[in-house]
Amino acid sequence: MLKGARKHEEDIRRRIYTGYRILRNTYLYSERLRLIGVTDLIAIDPSNDAIIVELKCGNVNAKKIRDSHKAQLACQAMLVEDVMGLRVRCIELLNLTTWERKRINITHYHRDMVSKALNDMRLIVVNEIFPDLAEKSGKCVDCEYRKFCWDLM
Ligand code: SF4
Repeated sequence: MLKGARKHEEDIRRRIYTGYRILRNTYLYSERLRLIGVTDLIAIDPSNDAIIVELKCGNVNAKKIRDSHKAQLACQAMLVEDVMGLRVRCIELLNLTTWERKRINITHYHRDMVSKALNDMRLIVVNEIFPDLAEKSGKCVDCEYRKFCWDLM
């Protein structure tokens, strides 16, 4: 498995990010942001600018990227900047079978979404508030909190 992972890493560097330093599965924790995350891949160029790469097996250009997904990527950008002190130049989705790439623009709007969500979550924990049910109940089907939210105890 290790050999396979290294080979894969070499392929990515050779085909896409030539000259970049590649970091796979980086665990990041920021006390200041009170945020934890794991990135699929970080490509760092010689001037220490980083590209955060999310690895995919499906078509990366097929559908519109939702704001919630962009907020998740904004979390990763904020973590990399805060913990590693790198400037995040952009975020990309990379299809590992076709090598297609899609560049995602993360704006202040998405960073603000993250800050607001973190504040809301802290308030929920501190004040022991029960959050509203998800707007789409399909998300609840295999959620581990289902028995609490749906009062199934
Ligand atoms: S069951 Fe899970 S997805 Fe559904 S509302 Fe509760 S926490 Fe959200």
